[in-house]
Amino acid sequence: MINYTDAHCHVISASPCPDALAGRICNATTQDEWAKISETVNDKNFACIGIHPWNIESIAPDWESELYDMLVRNPILMVGETGMDKYHPNIETQEKIFISQMQIASKLRRPVHLHCVGAWDKILHIFKELYRNMPPVIVAHAFNGDESIITQLAEKYNVYFSYSTPNDARTIARITHTPTQRLLIESDAHDEQTEIQTIEDASNTIAKILGQDDDLFIEQIYQNFQRVISYVRPID
Ligand SMILES: [Zn+2]
Repeated sequence: MINYTDAHCHVISASPCPDALAGRICNATTQDEWAKISETVNDKNFACIGIHPWNIESIAPDWESELYDMLVRNPILMVGETGMDKYHPNIETQEKIFISQMQIASKLRRPVHLHCVGAWDKILHIFKELYRNMPPVIVAHAFNGDESIITQLAEKYNVYFSYSTPNDARTIARITHTPTQRLLIESDAHDEQTEIQTIEDASNTIAKILGQDDDLFIEQIYQNFQRVISYVRPID
């Protein structure tokens, strides 16, 4: 049995995690996905509820209390997909909504699944401000910052970096710079077929880039995945 894992997807269906995967983390991007995604959660199918920086316009006035209450009711849920994106409007509002989700995640000790494009300077500043009140773990999905940021984040904070199949030299450089015990593999897919193909392809491609045996590498990624979800479920 090969323990492929998907650290970040958007497959929101009532179906359980497919047999081809040993675990997956599904991310909501808008408030109206929260209820549906929470119903799909089981011991392989993990889920995050949050507001994506592209969707800040869709929030209801009471979104923070709804997020808080749903997380309290369902202790296996994580927070995401949240973050900041320079190429989308209202960066100040994005920042406020992101900080609020970080505070809720910190208070309830839940992992955060982060989307950051062109805003690492701002995010690093927020992490520094929150320092003692950071969530227990952060997954930086589709990480696209500089290698120097990887070093900072890995040393100072409990940040994991997730990647799909790399298709340029910069992404390969980021992957080789990421500590192996902080690496995760993701599909970012919306349907199961794309998800499985992407995970198998990304896992095997990245193992080759790192010069590692496929099976040992996939097992290492599985162990990393287990550490992330251990914050919402005890390691068995
Ligand atoms: Zn995503």
